[in-house]
Amino acid sequence: MTPLEYDRTHIWHPYASLGNPPPVLHAKSASGVEIELADGSRLVDAVSSWWCVAHGHNHPAIVEAIRRQSERMCHVMFGGFTHDPAIDLAERLAKFAPAGLDRVFFADSGSISVEVAAKMAVQYQNALGHPERNRLVALKGGYHGDTSLCMAISDPDGMHTLFKGIMTKHFFAEKPGVPIDGEWDPADIQSLRRVLEEHSGEIAAVVCEPVFQAANAMNFYHPQYLREMRRLCDEHGALLIFDEIAAGFHRTGPLWAHSRAGIEPDIMTVGKALTGGHMTLAATLASAKVADTISNGRPSAFMHGPTYMANPLACAAACASLDLFEHSDYQSKVAKIESLFREGLSPLRALANVRDVRVLGAAGVVEVERLPKQEDISRVIRKHGVWLRPFANFIYAMPPLVTDDATAGRIVEAIADLSSAPPGPAPADGDFHE
Ligand SMILES: *Cc1c(COP(=O)(O)O)cnc(C)c1O
Repeated sequence: MTPLEYDRTHIWHPYASLGNPPPVLHAKSASGVEIELADGSRLVDAVSSWWCVAHGHNHPAIVEAIRRQSERMCHVMFGGFTHDPAIDLAERLAKFAPAGLDRVFFADSGSISVEVAAKMAVQYQNALGHPERNRLVALKGGYHGDTSLCMAISDPDGMHTLFKGIMTKHFFAEKPGVPIDGEWDPADIQSLRRVLEEHSGEIAAVVCEPVFQAANAMNFYHPQYLREMRRLCDEHGALLIFDEIAAGFHRTGPLWAHSRAGIEPDIMTVGKALTGGHMTLAATLASAKVADTISNGRPSAFMHGPTYMANPLACAAACASLDLFEHSDYQSKVAKIESLFREGLSPLRALANVRDVRVLGAAGVVEVERLPKQEDISRVIRKHGVWLRPFANFIYAMPPLVTDDATAGRIVEAIADLSSAPPGPAPADGDFHE
């Protein structure tokens, strides 16, 4: 059996069948914006390897930080110990985060940081004498991860209907409908208002992906929605959780997507680009109000603690990544990518299979009636040397923030080519790709 045959028959890939696996490419190395395959060819990573490789692959400064830390200490339990990489990272994150969100819990993946945020909200309400406030409100069209709580607050019509039986019921407001550049319509917030009015006694927190609903909807919505949301949370005694895992670290332009709204959450999750895609790490940031209230409750301890919490290698990688975020002018780099995507992708609206084209920051989305056939997708990837990973109705690019103009142009050409391909078969019932 060749290694690739072994892979096909024994290893699950994300949201993929082991019986009838989709094609996979054999990656050997990666640097800058490119991934090198076993056959020596190179692909531009227009997906930033699921949106985390912000500074490019194998950035020398991050690799060096991991190497140096690995010589001292790869891991130590965080129960009963602390270490410099964790302390450095906490201090740096506090400088980056919205004012006041300087209490931190280090999680080992984005999903876990969302679980942690939800548990913080529940412990907070419990400490205030409201144990019955143990539900969340989330938005339709949202995505917060794959663990069971995260599934339960992600789009209820999305990927997770099969698991209803193991999921707690939470509340949903309609997907925000006013686009980021549209004219604000107060009707857009009515659904959230109604949920809070009807159920506020049961609600611990409201959670959303600010401005950019990524993995389930590729929806860029109006920041006024967030201002109204903040007000409603205050009115109804609910905490506000922003999940910046996809949208944070300049993906939409500003460092945090929610800063467009000029308001702040009580709890915020970050992940993906935190280490620049070099190690798995996420963090849940909370305000002093949240932390102090939990500390004054019973139990005073916050009840979570993964084995690899604050892994020193990952924290060292994140510190190096934050240095790069601090010293690179990503705001203008992203503005450049945004204008190239706007210019290059907007004309695709005229194509028969295209429903809509949306661009925000370093994210360009072509929404199609139906995705092309897998053969066409693979052909376009090979022809242009650009890695794309369309899903649902979306052909999109979210390239590394360091992508230069020429490379952005190649990505646009590949997307244009793929958007012109004939629509493939309708997905079979219950079938899908991430
Ligand atoms: C990817 C993502 C998550 C989950 O992060 P993992 O590291 O995959 O567990 C959570 N929220 C948002 C908004 C995401 O995009």
